[in-house]
Amino acid sequence: MSYVLDTSAILSGKNLPFTVDLYIPPGVLDEIKKGGRWYRKVKMMMAAGLKVVSPPGALVEAVERKAKSTGDYLRLSDTDVEVIALALHLDAEILTDDYSIQNMAKNMGIRYGGISQMGIREEYTWTYRCRKCGRWYRESVEECDTCGGEIRTTKCF
Ligand SMILES: [Zn+2]
Repeated sequence: MSYVLDTSAILSGKNLPFTVDLYIPPGVLDEIKKGGRWYRKVKMMMAAGLKVVSPPGALVEAVERKAKSTGDYLRLSDTDVEVIALALHLDAEILTDDYSIQNMAKNMGIRYGGISQMGIREEYTWTYRCRKCGRWYRESVEECDTCGGEIRTTKCF
């Protein structure tokens, strides 16, 4: 399974699974470069397998044409268009929380998903942790056995 990420997917700070193929177009990397600590994160992601790929010019033009015809064009940045064209090129799913990109993907029959509900479902387990003393629990408990502290539910990657 291949996924194309937009800038919002990276800025979400979510840990993305590297059991799938992750791609970004150069425009996303350029946007991230302006963002200091996020650039560090994206470099780590690249070291872990995230690939930067340019979509073919013909597909970029095709997306622009379609966006102009549906009225989405004004809401899409050049980088957004690259994200969509790259997803077409790779037959990939787009991961984004950007409504304009989601809408355009729908118009073009491209699979997409939001970051919050994305395919990391199988990648984490719920764990429970005491706010006060930090003890971990595998199962939900009312309060901490050790100190009586409040229990917080955590996603554990
Ligand atoms: Zn405790």
